[in-house]
Amino acid sequence: MPTWRLTYKRFDPHDEGLREALCTPGNGYFCTRGAAEWASAGGVHYPGTYVAGGYNRLSSRVADRQIENEDLVNLPNWLPLSLRIENDRWFDLGKLDILAYVQELDLKEGLLKRTIRFRDRKGRETDLVSRRFVNMAQQHLAAIEWVVTARNWSGRLKVRSALDGTVVNDGVPRYRGLANRHLEPLKSGRADDDKIFVLVSTSQSRMEVAEAARTRVFRLSEPMKARRITRTAAGYARQDLEIHMEKGVPVQIEKVVALHTSRDRGISESLIEALTRVGRAPDFADLLRSHAQAWDQLWRRCDIVLSRQRRHQRILRLHIFHLLQTVSRNSVDLDVGVPARGLHGEAYRGHVFWDELFIFPFLNFRTPEITNSLIRYRYQRLDEARALAREAGYRGAMFPWQSGSNGREETQTTHLNPASGRWIPDRSHRQRHVNAAIAYNVWSHYRITGNHGFMSVFGAEILLEIARFWSSAAHFNPARGRYEIHGVMGPDEYHDGYPDAEEAGLRNNAYTNVMVAWIMGVALRAFDELLEYRRQELRESLRLDDSELSLWADMNHKMFVPFHDDGIISQFEGYEDLQELDWRHYRRKYGNVARLDRILEAEGDSPNRYKLAKQTDVVMLFYLFAAESITNIFQTLGYPLDPEAIRRNIDYYLQRTSHGSTLSSIVHSAVLARYDGEKSWRMFRRALESDVHDLQGGTTSEGIHLGVMAGTVDLVQRGYMGVEIRDEVLFFNPLVPHRLEGLGVAMRYRGVWLDANVSDGKLSILARRGGPDMVPVGVRDTIYFLKAGYRREFSL
Ligand code: BGC
Repeated sequence: MPTWRLTYKRFDPHDEGLREALCTPGNGYFCTRGAAEWASAGGVHYPGTYVAGGYNRLSSRVADRQIENEDLVNLPNWLPLSLRIENDRWFDLGKLDILAYVQELDLKEGLLKRTIRFRDRKGRETDLVSRRFVNMAQQHLAAIEWVVTARNWSGRLKVRSALDGTVVNDGVPRYRGLANRHLEPLKSGRADDDKIFVLVSTSQSRMEVAEAARTRVFRLSEPMKARRITRTAAGYARQDLEIHMEKGVPVQIEKVVALHTSRDRGISESLIEALTRVGRAPDFADLLRSHAQAWDQLWRRCDIVLSRQRRHQRILRLHIFHLLQTVSRNSVDLDVGVPARGLHGEAYRGHVFWDELFIFPFLNFRTPEITNSLIRYRYQRLDEARALAREAGYRGAMFPWQSGSNGREETQTTHLNPASGRWIPDRSHRQRHVNAAIAYNVWSHYRITGNHGFMSVFGAEILLEIARFWSSAAHFNPARGRYEIHGVMGPDEYHDGYPDAEEAGLRNNAYTNVMVAWIMGVALRAFDELLEYRRQELRESLRLDDSELSLWADMNHKMFVPFHDDGIISQFEGYEDLQELDWRHYRRKYGNVARLDRILEAEGDSPNRYKLAKQTDVVMLFYLFAAESITNIFQTLGYPLDPEAIRRNIDYYLQRTSHGSTLSSIVHSAVLARYDGEKSWRMFRRALESDVHDLQGGTTSEGIHLGVMAGTVDLVQRGYMGVEIRDEVLFFNPLVPHRLEGLGVAMRYRGVWLDANVSDGKLSILARRGGPDMVPVGVRDTIYFLKAGYRREFSL
């Protein structure tokens, strides 16, 4: 099985939506779903183009209320390319005999290819080979090449090439009752003989988007004369080219497209730039060369090798591929966060959640310039987070659960339960723990890169303001002698309040409280590590005094953590009073019980009444911190926690989790790696398969799950390679499941590239040249000094 290709050997209309998401080409600036060039949005296809940070707000009337949503906007479709033989109908796969069909995504080169042989009703047989990409090296350019060969006929061929700005956001069935027309047409037309363009604007955020397309035809590499007819309408432009085909002689059709928005850097006006850029663009082959080279460079940094596991290897590469397409060097200057569903569809409206927590670890060790820019996306929205905290009665900065353009809270206030058809109040914005994820990411980025400048300019301010927020959200309970936080939700979204309680939120979510204790420690440490002048500046500008710092130090030791059943950490206070769910009954009745929230609501019941979880909550703690670190955190808090108790907690919650979020299997697999290799492997496989096989039944076609994709990659590095930073040193403690014969990763720690491989019971590490002559590396519990340029082996 090829490990660099995703291949589909026949056309399957039912699978098309999923394939479109999985075969999306993109470059971190924009992505376009892998819909066929001739397809328009409808029951089978959904072409969609999304630019990073391209949001717009619309207001809709739902259940007698006016609500406003901010969406990642589906931009003008630049794909349309179709053909027509003589005066027959325009190309429509459904009305032709398909003699052969292969669709292939080449991960190594970032190229989407379709090879089709078809016969029309007059018996004419034709070959069509389509290749396309969104250029990783030149972010504003994309290109399509069609090679058409008339196998048993000669005659007239019409080719239609268009840009379609009349599109709407229609990719998610549940959102169909909401307003969806985000684009207003501004201009469309023809430039020179072979170029067309459209210019549109988003209706509220006033982002102009220009696309320009150049379509040319070649026979045996020579430009061919074609009769062209151009038609334009509001938001739409097309060109029909008429050429003469000779039997057996391939004709090449090239469409090169430039996309610009008014938000781009270094531009005058988006349409001028798009036209100039497409005018200067080289031909398809040249563009493909620069694109493939950029991918080659990315793979040299980012590949992870799983020995003799070809199927898993391929999916892992697919995950790395989509991660690098959603955020790349092209996104670094864009002031954008990383959307949970990629730039691959419209689910979750392109919003940024806590999923960054799963996405950062892979990027931090390979392309820290990207994670740096993702943190700066938060930094630019610090004032909005301050306002959000103030409005909720807190101090400091409270980042929203869902973030989009300007960092206001974008979480919907009501959502549709497709199982009952009812609109339900949505309280998920109470997942304040997103502020723990941001702090964790700032701290990890700093530790992995050792970048003091970053911490001094951006990181520390974010950390301090988050610490301040948490200290204002907590209160001291003298009876317990501990700090408590009320009114929040943990990562498990199935509990948003107590059974039958009017008010939303829970008391003392254990995950949140422990993270807060930890944040207090790192905020103080980060502050301590700043140079004296910068500490003074921050004291002044944030009005930070000693009493506040000592409050944080106290919270670091005295956050409350609820327990029950002899050492089981309660997901939140009062959890032990909830009922056990009859899992067998629900499994028998519904088969798939991943979305128990929807099932229970449709039955007039509520998940709030039961001991169940959508996804890991308490167990997150054992995922984010290796055993020794989490034991230390609990020790500092004065709670005992031994490895046996960790194991019991994992088992306890695993039995009560429905895995309604794909993130859940990642976390469980990673924590189980230390205790039960076989079970961990099973969950790893489940996480790997979740998007490729759309295990959630229909959600992947609305956008990939980037958290789980990145999580599988992190799982290999964190769970199986056992990577951990201790005492400023990168440690390797491999725990490779026996199903995996070996694995290899390359990672950069504090500027030094290390190549680590495990096979035949040995770990080998090479410190690449280009950094210090001697590099400290930890293996198990010992620190070794590696000479740059040399490989050292350790027996496991
Ligand atoms: C999960 C959240 C996640 C969000 C976006 C939800 O289904 O429960 O944890 O942040 O999806 O991926």
